[in-house]
Amino acid sequence: MSRATLTGRAAPELGPGWRCVVVDCPHATTTVHLNAGPVQLTDTDAARVALARHDPAEGCACTRELRAHYGQPTLSERAAAPPRRRRR
Ligand SMILES: [Zn+2]
Ligand SMILES: [Zn+2]
Repeated sequence: MSRATLTGRAAPELGPGWRCVVVDCPHATTTVHLNAGPVQLTDTDAARVALARHDPAEGCACTRELRAHYGQPTLSERAAAPPRRRRR
């Protein structure tokens, strides 16, 4: 069974309010930088966004347990986290 791990930290090097969240699984690592502006993101919010990003980007299902634990991101959380990579 493959499992993903999720780590989050404040990222003051990017500016106030930024967080860096890393989803790591045996297939790929997704790093997401988040800044919700005036709204303070919680670790749970950041985790949801990072998990939602990882699966379609990497095409694996290692985060299933984590997603079940954290739930899906809300619309406002999606808006708070613009994609790092553009799809063409
Ligand atoms: Zn994965
Ligand atoms: Zn995987």
